[in-house]
Amino acid sequence: MAFCKNCGAQLEENAKFCPSCGTAQAEQAPVENVTPEVEIPVQEVEAAPAPEKASGNLNVAQLVWAIINLLVCCTPLGIAALIFTVIAKDAPTAEEEAKKLKTAKTCNLIGTIGGAVVIVLYIVFVVVMAMVGAMGAM
Ligand SMILES: [Zn+2]
Repeated sequence: MAFCKNCGAQLEENAKFCPSCGTAQAEQAPVENVTPEVEIPVQEVEAAPAPEKASGNLNVAQLVWAIINLLVCCTPLGIAALIFTVIAKDAPTAEEEAKKLKTAKTCNLIGTIGGAVVIVLYIVFVVVMAMVGAMGAM
């Protein structure tokens, strides 16, 4: 049994208009269970913030330092520093990158300090030999 949506009067089945007030009645179409298509976003919201991206840049200063070490004094440390500097560039995260660069820096530092010590010892040795030679000539 249908009733007028405007005045509430009883309507005949499938009546298009209300006999009482004349309001057009919605057709009593069978209600289809049309579920609106809800678009579920495919991209899931990341709960945790993504780790900071690595800069992707080559640390040129570190690289040059490594090459100097490699050529001048401490070849193995220079090579290690060089490798770590280069692979740091391809590190996926900033954390990884920093870790590798730190290792490279450590190799460079040891190489440079070691190299400096060797050079100083060499200079001392040369000076001492020169003095000994000069004394011998007297
Ligand atoms: Zn009515």
